[in-house]
Amino acid sequence: MDLKKFRAEASRKKTRLTKFLKKLDKVVPTDIHEIVTVTDATVWRDIDCTHCANCCKTMTPTFTPKDIKRISAHLGMDAKAFKAKWLTKEEDTGDWVNVLQPCQFLVNNMCSIYEVRPADCAEFPHHNKKPFDDYNDTFTNNLVHCPATLTLVDRLHKVIRREYEGYD
Ligand code: SF4
Ligand code: SF4
Repeated sequence: MDLKKFRAEASRKKTRLTKFLKKLDKVVPTDIHEIVTVTDATVWRDIDCTHCANCCKTMTPTFTPKDIKRISAHLGMDAKAFKAKWLTKEEDTGDWVNVLQPCQFLVNNMCSIYEVRPADCAEFPHHNKKPFDDYNDTFTNNLVHCPATLTLVDRLHKVIRREYEGYD
């Protein structure tokens, strides 16, 4: 994965795809989930997360209390020490997030706590969420972070523009 090329592509396509996602907020094709499922399958034929890890390098997951308990136990630490060592509490949301970027658990481009990683990481990039259009703000934000999301939204735009009016 050439992340420099991805950043250039994201910057080129961001305005058009953001506009498309905004439109998708208001007018949702009835078969959106079928379209997403079929299109998403094509994305994962072309993108391999183990050659990317850009989410782990440029974003932070939210660590729920359950995540913190599970991961700290896995590392043989107590939850308080784990939070003090790696996390900070966001003032506006109260969420526990990483202090460091890239994530401290990213080793050789792989997650070193994969089996016990935060639920947020396990669900990322959220392409299977339903209703899909409830997550348009997330996808808009992730266009510049995740090559899989950029590719999915770009392909969705092409498919939906071809099949429905008003998505140019
Ligand atoms: S916990 Fe693992 S999957 Fe989650 S951001 Fe860190 S390295 Fe990536
Ligand atoms: S989820 Fe997206 S950003 Fe994260 S590794 Fe996969 S393609 Fe890259």
